[in-house]
Amino acid sequence: MVPMEIEAKYAILDEQTGTQLRATRRLAGFKVTPGRHLSLHDTYLDTATGDIRAAGLACRRRVANGRGLLTLKGLVSAQASVHTREETEIEAPEPFDPSPTTWPEGALRERVLSLIGDRPLIPQFTIDQDRLARKVREPKGPTVAELAIDTGHISYGGDSILFTELEIELAPGATPDVLAEILDALSGLPGLAAQPTSKFERGLAFAARVGKQALAEEQVCADDPFGVAVCKVLRPHFFRMQAHEAGTYAGTDPEELHDMRVAIRRMRTVLWIARPYLDMDALGPVTKGLRRAADILGAVRDMDVFRQKTEAYIADKGAKAADFVSLFAVWDAEYARRRNQLLRYLGSRRYGRLKEALWTHLAPAAPANSPQGLPALDPSVRVDEVVPGIARQRLAALLEHGTGIGTGKLSLAGYHALRIDGKRLRYTLEVFRGVLGPEVGDAIEVLKKLQDASGDLQDAVVAVAHLEAVGSFGTWEPPRQPGSLWQSGPACGRGPDTPLPTGLRRYLRARKSEIKAFVAKAPATWQRFLDDHVPEQITTAAAALEAATLRGESIMLTLQDHKENAMAHNPTYVILMGPPASGKGTQAERLQELLALPHVASGDLFRYNLKNETPLGLRAKAYMDKGELVPDDITIAMVLDRLARPDCAKGALLDGFPRTLPQAAALDTALAEKGSGIDLVLNIKVPDDVLIERVTGRRLCRQCGASYHIKFASPQTEGVCDKCGGELYQRDDDTEPVARKRLEVYDNQTSPLIEYYASKGVLVAIDGDQSIDEVTAALRGAIEARL
Ligand code: ADP
Ligand code: ADP
Ligand code: ZN
Repeated sequence: MVPMEIEAKYAILDEQTGTQLRATRRLAGFKVTPGRHLSLHDTYLDTATGDIRAAGLACRRRVANGRGLLTLKGLVSAQASVHTREETEIEAPEPFDPSPTTWPEGALRERVLSLIGDRPLIPQFTIDQDRLARKVREPKGPTVAELAIDTGHISYGGDSILFTELEIELAPGATPDVLAEILDALSGLPGLAAQPTSKFERGLAFAARVGKQALAEEQVCADDPFGVAVCKVLRPHFFRMQAHEAGTYAGTDPEELHDMRVAIRRMRTVLWIARPYLDMDALGPVTKGLRRAADILGAVRDMDVFRQKTEAYIADKGAKAADFVSLFAVWDAEYARRRNQLLRYLGSRRYGRLKEALWTHLAPAAPANSPQGLPALDPSVRVDEVVPGIARQRLAALLEHGTGIGTGKLSLAGYHALRIDGKRLRYTLEVFRGVLGPEVGDAIEVLKKLQDASGDLQDAVVAVAHLEAVGSFGTWEPPRQPGSLWQSGPACGRGPDTPLPTGLRRYLRARKSEIKAFVAKAPATWQRFLDDHVPEQITTAAAALEAATLRGESIMLTLQDHKENAMAHNPTYVILMGPPASGKGTQAERLQELLALPHVASGDLFRYNLKNETPLGLRAKAYMDKGELVPDDITIAMVLDRLARPDCAKGALLDGFPRTLPQAAALDTALAEKGSGIDLVLNIKVPDDVLIERVTGRRLCRQCGASYHIKFASPQTEGVCDKCGGELYQRDDDTEPVARKRLEVYDNQTSPLIEYYASKGVLVAIDGDQSIDEVTAALRGAIEARL
């Protein structure tokens, strides 16, 4: 059996606690010996490609009082502060030779050699520490544990960080209850925080921080498998999160917490953006864990920002400090509670599990040190195949929210959503810049400015809510707010009816006017954003990339890949059915977020081909102009080809296909081959006379494809798209005579499908003769009930 080391670790947060621990003579029912000082010098060794770490191990060379020792340790599995791990040790002969072939024979040497082959071991970072080693004994009996109070520094590349730490290691033969007893006695010390990471892990993180190498963005390449690309993007943030952990513990510099939180938020956003192509079931523990971490850090960060801005205001305006005493009293109490929660969390098994879960996915695959990749729905999907779709989706979401600004109807929650969408778009561009091309650089800069403006708004909204709670209830949060992560304590300080001091009232007004000022400026800010041609830059970059990948036949997936994929992940197929202009396109756009499925519209595909003058487009044109259906064979081939593209791995929202019984049969066969089928058919019903009016008034955006109506859904400025500023046009076939022909074709050839799908039990009828919002609500209802 491999010997196991069981120990508990705590960060010592303040000087007094350190002094107290060095001096104490008793702990629980045990005696503590005065102990002796050791001076320890550790060097961690690994190959340039990190083979030892990749195997979940750490190799340490220690020099203690002139004696050399080599240790191979398993990476920690921490249960709160208690660490259990494998450990093998041998004496290291002096002078030390880093080539393992010269080491004494034995299990350690064999293991290291098997991991590294003939690659040389290189020092990674060093840890120098002074250890006060004290024994913990039964009053008249044996030693049960060793208490080590360590102070020292981790060094790498000429830079170092300090640490003070307590370790309790169980003596061989002692039972775990002993450890429990000791830990229980220590739990009374407020200056201790459980430390779930080993010094090795912190050393790694530190080396990563200093060495910039691991923190540097790894280059995402166009032909990277998508899962590998996401892994490359996440890894530096994972190291960054850990690099700021110690600083977050210490709490002396609020920027440490901020940086840690930024790293976590980046990881969350990247996973969110990438989620349509990843196996999110496998990543469940990661996304849940990151959300929790972000919430807990965010709760403290919000208060840091509040305090900084408030103090800046006081200094700036020369406000009376006495007026802010009651506010800061509430702040102090709540801040202490939140920081405690944070410290408990950082010391928890939960946080340890998050890091383990992340590392399982992010650890390089040995021995090449290349990213192993996150679990993708389809492992063969390449970055360049999906990035155009992602960029378009993110842009569409932002534009959708942005539309509300001009109408003046956007709520504060709407601005918040806008900010998040802006961030998601910006990260998408930043992360995939190497693939999308340097042209998106300008767009990134413009998005940053937009984000800064709305970030201040968010701070003001949060501040006003807290100031009002303090004013009305004397607590940081309004009492018992459902859904709030933080429950307020009993009202401290101010009662409900005491009026706010003048200074505070003024401050509240100032923060409120920040919000008003933002909202007043928002249309102009948004217009500037549109004027800077961000949407064009992004659509152009996406289209160029798309055109490049469409040409490359080799990257198309084989049917076999999709079969396996579909079997494993059971994709969802929803059909939007309805006569011309019944609102399929309009609704599909609105349902995308809910369904998270790509919108596949046969009419759009034909028009895309037509615009690009492909042979297919030119063939289809003759039929479309007359309002007739394009022959089944070409239509079927085109749509099935589209469904075989990687972004449809999770399924699709079909619009305008199938339109004939043979098309429906061909679709069924293709899906059945993948072990799948149609899940839901939403049949939108609208009377003919209404349809004629809708068809003839329809206008489309040349750039983003958004659909308008001159009467029912008119743009703010005639002929200009609200969302992207693109030019609006009328489809050639949207004239009354062609529309009447299309309706006739629908009745003859498409309406038999209603019976076809009804008999399969997947059909739901939706009244389409209502407002756009009402139709969306009806569709959502049906989807939520049936999927
Ligand atoms: P609408 O918006 O009026 O429902 P679409 O944009 O879906 O119309 O389709 C426009 C034209 O494209 C149709 O009139 C037809 O010529 C052709 N088309 C679209 N989908 C199909 C299909 N599934 N089968 C045959 N032709 C199609
Ligand atoms: P389809 O994709 O089914 O051909 P669209 O979504 O393009 O239809 O809608 C046709 C026209 O009718 C567009 O101009 C759109 O703005 C408008 N429209 C869509 N739904 C409604 C509705 N519920 N009420 C009024 N007009 C609508
Ligand atoms: Zn547009």
